Amino acid sequence: MTRSKSVEAFKRGLNVFPDGTTRITIERDPYPIYAARGEGAALFDVDGRRFLDLHGNFTALINGHAFAPVVEAVTRQLRDGTCFANPTEAEIALAALICGRIPGVERLRFVNSGTEAVMFAVKAARAMTGRPAIAKIEGAYHGGYDWVEVSQTSASTNWGPPHAPANTSYYRGMPERVLDDVVTLRFNDAEGAAALIEQHADRLAAVLLDPMPSRAGLIEPTPAFVTAIQQTAARHGVLVIADEVLNLRQSYHGASARIGLKPDIVALGKIIGGGFPIGAIGGLADIMDVFSKKPGGPLVPQGGTFSANPVSMVAGRAGMEALTPAVFDRLAAAGDTVRSGLRQSISRHGLSFSVTGAASLLRVHAKAVAPLDYRDAVETPAERAAISRYVNHFIEAGLLVPASGMICLSTPMTEEDLQLIIETFDAYAALEAQQAT
Ligand code: PMP
Repeated sequence: MTRSKSVEAFKRGLNVFPDGTTRITIERDPYPIYAARGEGAALFDVDGRRFLDLHGNFTALINGHAFAPVVEAVTRQLRDGTCFANPTEAEIALAALICGRIPGVERLRFVNSGTEAVMFAVKAARAMTGRPAIAKIEGAYHGGYDWVEVSQTSASTNWGPPHAPANTSYYRGMPERVLDDVVTLRFNDAEGAAALIEQHADRLAAVLLDPMPSRAGLIEPTPAFVTAIQQTAARHGVLVIADEVLNLRQSYHGASARIGLKPDIVALGKIIGGGFPIGAIGGLADIMDVFSKKPGGPLVPQGGTFSANPVSMVAGRAGMEALTPAVFDRLAAAGDTVRSGLRQSISRHGLSFSVTGAASLLRVHAKAVAPLDYRDAVETPAERAAISRYVNHFIEAGLLVPASGMICLSTPMTEEDLQLIIETFDAYAALEAQQAT
């Protein structure tokens, strides 16, 4: 199929960017597909090809592309100015909406990305507790702040013992002192995690937990694991930070509410910006007071030239207002439909595959048994090759998925779109089964 304009664009990109693009995560071989425009669930590339967008810009586009209420709100705002050194009423409206929905969020602060949200959440926990270290989950991604990058690479083979994972650095030159202030926990290892939190409690500010870390396999946490983290942390005055940058989309009240986790601080991003750059840190009023100038403060100074810019604020409000409880229910049902369709296809064709995920997100693994944690989820070269074949099959068929094979659903998707996903997977599964015989 002709992709001449993408090839041409990539050649130009190589002249100005390392590897031709500005995000490591744009990882299509041998060259990326250049986007021209998006409309609802569809993305059109520069060569005029239409894709069903199952990527949604790393899950941010829960209402699809060019969602009309967002376009209208932003267009109005553009005429009135895009950023001020003054607060706006728009920021209060979006904050009130979020405080009204997310349990435990009484106050919040806006920033520009999920990375910043997690960073300020960690700083807030340090300021509250006076302790330097954090515990985080092996393999989990939380953005680009040094401490949260520890032990998130799958390139390392030296993982350490199962109940006490090693700390691995994410980039060459990562200071040893960063590694010293991180305790790596294994996902769904309730006993091991509790023991490590206990052992390091006197220097732990927080446990950082994404309720369903996507890069670590998009796996449901077991109730025992959630309880162990919550109770052990509480017993030792260690705060719990929920990174809901990606998984807030799991329900109207977010992901922690769905699994019974009661975090002290929540980091938000992606869907709360309606497709524009955003991040937020939320929590109970007394914790969020670390950002306040009240006597002696602020313990954590926080600013940002574009933080709470009114474009992101009005876009976020328009996008979030459309996401009613009924809409979240419909998205979750759509996720169930696709997950069960794929599982039926897997069993019909006798593939050694499994499916994980919840609500509007799912991930296909080339493993007979669904992984329980990051170590289970890491792919062998043969499993990676099988996932690459599935990803390529989808892209050739006009369904856009990331290299990980994660599928992200959005509100403009129709019943036909869901069936197309299942049928496309079924065609791939038939080919895969044929090759195996
Ligand atoms: N935390 C999680 C769980 C994420 O998925 C991401 C982004 N994929 C981030 C933090 C960082 O967010 P951003 O890319 O907006 O900096």
